[in-house]
Amino acid sequence: MSTRPSRGIPEGLWLPCPRCKATLYKKEVQARLNVCGECGYHFTVPARERIRQLLDEDSFEEWFANLRSCDPLGFIDKIPYAQKLEETQKKTGLTEAAVVGKGFIRGRPVVLGITDFSFMAGSMGSVVGEKLTRAVEEATRRMLPLIIVSGSGGGARMQEGILSLMQMAKVSAAIARHDAAGGFYLSVLTHPTMGGVAASWALQGDITLAEPGAMIGFAGARTIWNTVRIELPEGFQTSEFLLEHGFIDRIVHRKDLRTEVARLVDYCEK
Ligand SMILES: [Zn+2]
Repeated sequence: MSTRPSRGIPEGLWLPCPRCKATLYKKEVQARLNVCGECGYHFTVPARERIRQLLDEDSFEEWFANLRSCDPLGFIDKIPYAQKLEETQKKTGLTEAAVVGKGFIRGRPVVLGITDFSFMAGSMGSVVGEKLTRAVEEATRRMLPLIIVSGSGGGARMQEGILSLMQMAKVSAAIARHDAAGGFYLSVLTHPTMGGVAASWALQGDITLAEPGAMIGFAGARTIWNTVRIELPEGFQTSEFLLEHGFIDRIVHRKDLRTEVARLVDYCEK
């Protein structure tokens, strides 16, 4: 288990809440599962922490951890992509933005996939797509419920070009096969779930849950304005707005997520 500092929670004893601006004691925020005790703001949760919050203790068995992105385009922006990957791996203690495997939620076996915002904004590179696809296929083969917790800001990873983009179709096809085989898929949307991630697996769940106040959508408000000059309604692309418009099924506070997922697995698997 990694001991790195959590993404979304800056170092030091105190931290400001981005929403209510209260100064919060970090230990207390962590004890509340990275939620502000004043206003309920949900801070980003790194993948390892999410596993601790969601699964029964020490029940997670990680799969396909050896997969590594290569740099097929020899992509360079500010720094070469290969170097960027290496630095991000060091910083996050993760090999890629997706962590997948099997675990137990209140005694129920599940296949779990997570995308971690701290790794290149949780963007969908070819390894993210491959890990998720294999996880879905394992869920189908073992007849286990599939749970994917998405936290991805940018969608496709531009450094891998079209190889990144095709992951949308690949994961979606695996989910369609899982569905055809009678498998259950529960999608959990966290802040933020955007771009190609939102446009593929994140919104293909049999049931879609979201954490409160998460930004969920395809293109951001500024891009939409620049493209079609449409003024967006208040609260557009938040969990609450999407619930009201029937896009997601339920908003679940982080403290209730484990129980709610277990309940839905029971309900849908019987
Ligand atoms: Zn707050």
